[in-house]
Amino acid sequence: MEHILTCIVCPRGCELHVDENFNVTGNSCPRGAIYGAQEIRDPRRTLTTTVKCRGKLLRVCPCKTSGTIRKGDQFRIMEIVNQTEVQPPVKMGQLLVSNIGDTGVDLIATREINE
Ligand code: SF4
Repeated sequence: MEHILTCIVCPRGCELHVDENFNVTGNSCPRGAIYGAQEIRDPRRTLTTTVKCRGKLLRVCPCKTSGTIRKGDQFRIMEIVNQTEVQPPVKMGQLLVSNIGDTGVDLIATREINE
């Protein structure tokens, strides 16, 4: 069965066709072939979310995973995120959870919070 999807790697948005052997056509560059095959075989996303913050002004701290995680792992990882709390000061890019859920990627802060 052929899968049809839009490449989201760059704004050009090529229409990709991926066959049952994960061969990709319709891509205008090699990145689309990699994306298309992975999206069908093992879809992954960067998780962008917030954790609780004990700040004077902010009760949440924006954060994201340092790399992509399997889409199927998102709910499991969100359970860890929901149990995570930070105490300011928080630096941009600060490590919040190392190797979150044994995914091989970290949870990092995406905002500086001074108090
Ligand atoms: S295949 Fe290449 S050119 Fe086309 S959208 Fe993907 S990254 Fe952009």
